[in-house]
Amino acid sequence: MNILLATEKPFAREAVEGIRSIIGEGLVEGTLSDITPQTQGLIVRSDKVTREIVEKATNLKIVVRAGAGYDNVDLAACTQRGIVVMNTPGQNSNAVAELALGMMIFMARNGFTPGTGTELKGKTLGIHAYGNVGRLVAALGRGFGMRVVAYDPFVDNSDGSVEWVGSVEELYSVSNYLSLHIPATAETRGSIGYDLLMSMPKGATLINTARKEVVDEQGLVRAFGERDDLKYATDVAPDTDLSQFGKRFFATAKKMGAETAEANVNAGLAAARQIVGFFETGEIKFKVN
Ligand code: NAD
Repeated sequence: MNILLATEKPFAREAVEGIRSIIGEGLVEGTLSDITPQTQGLIVRSDKVTREIVEKATNLKIVVRAGAGYDNVDLAACTQRGIVVMNTPGQNSNAVAELALGMMIFMARNGFTPGTGTELKGKTLGIHAYGNVGRLVAALGRGFGMRVVAYDPFVDNSDGSVEWVGSVEELYSVSNYLSLHIPATAETRGSIGYDLLMSMPKGATLINTARKEVVDEQGLVRAFGERDDLKYATDVAPDTDLSQFGKRFFATAKKMGAETAEANVNAGLAAARQIVGFFETGEIKFKVN
């Protein structure tokens, strides 16, 4: 095996050692510019796997994105060349869920500056998309004594693990805190905008640990201009400068949802195991293309 571990956004040392012990001699650490015609597999975090990169690696069989979202990989280019693309679902979800709750508390307590804040207990937490992260945020929210409601048209909620609402509109209209967990797709891009924000209860806070693209930033600016009670905290920095909204807006300095030692190791090792499974037995359970 000749596997490139692209480390422009580095893995923790412990993760790299674990990956090496699973893959063995064939592991090469480098950046995407080190890809060669010999490269058979690729493990990336947030590095962009463009068509140009894919075309350089004429022997490439598999790309594993060590993480949940795979919008940094040109899926069409990979599919055209018969390259399997996988993610490692669930491996960093707990880290992201904890950050979402942390951001809720931060916003409820005036960004940890003096002044009277509010509590999460008794408030309604809306979960937009009940996937790996959404489920964990729901459980944490319940732990804080919140009423938790969720919406996800692609999930069967027959186990009744959460209170379900029938539409996106209903979800936003009842949520004091709305935690976003939808992926960035053609359908979801720019889908959270003026109307949904304006429908939220007084003092509502939008929490985005998903993707910046899902928020219509111009719609948000308009809604925030008309309502001075709305707040937005995000782990995926917007393109628009929102500093005019002062403490009603918070963005982490750099995306850090999955930036824990545990998530790094979990996702890295899962990626390595998936690569080995693919080459040894043709396992493609987490294929996304
Ligand atoms: P997941 O695939 O487990 O869950 C996504 C859920 O979205 C699924 O349940 C799916 O049914 C639902 N969904 C898809 N389209 C939808 C739509 N139009 N309306 C409502 N629901 C829809 O993913 P996850 O691991 O829970 O990750 C969720 C998001 O968080 C993704 O956008 C991912 O990229 C992002 N993420 C961010 C970080 C970070 O560092 N901040 C880390 C991990 C994941």
